[in-house]
Amino acid sequence: RSEEAQTEDYLFKIVLIGDSAVGKSNLLARFARDEFYPNSKSTIGVEFQTQKLDINGKEVKAQIWDTAGQERFRAVTSAYYRGAVGALLVYDISRRLTFENIGRWLNELQTHSDMNVVTILVGNKSDLKHAREVTTAEGKSLAEAQGLFFIETSALDSSNVAVAFQTVVKEIYNILS
Ligand code: GDP
Ligand code: MG
Repeated sequence: RSEEAQTEDYLFKIVLIGDSAVGKSNLLARFARDEFYPNSKSTIGVEFQTQKLDINGKEVKAQIWDTAGQERFRAVTSAYYRGAVGALLVYDISRRLTFENIGRWLNELQTHSDMNVVTILVGNKSDLKHAREVTTAEGKSLAEAQGLFFIETSALDSSNVAVAFQTVVKEIYNILS
């Protein structure tokens, strides 16, 4: 088989989870389309978006799932998690409650997924420096305690958005290849 054909085999399902309005949909919009919605409601969510990534010279496809606002009612279904091999667990660094809820999301993820999902803890809205309610050290420390990758991002100014997705995809690739 050609290199081309082989790369078709790599399609990883990755889910975005975390409280409402932490920026999940905008992280995906920034990553997949380089767009940002300043006043987005949960309605911009698409079911999933497929994005090609280059990992060690190989083409890998990430199928990234976004909620359509179900998280508002804690009604994310098991179908959402099914088959996921990666997850971005997102909180908003300017809203402490969203960080305190991370444990519940992690539980939910572990309950619904049948394998070890490569997970990165994402502190989004790092641009909101003056409104910060969660320190970088706190995020890092939680991630270490739970065995997660960690990064702070801003969907607004783009910082670390691609790195967040790439970190997860790279690790999945390394595990499976
Ligand atoms: P979701 O409910 O988790 O999907 O959150 P959204 O992506 O819909 O974002 C909720 C709100 O936060 C919107 O008004 C976004 O414009 C805003 N937002 C998202 N990401 C950022 C960010 O990195 N920085 C700032 N300042 N606002 C953001
Ligand atoms: Mg959303």
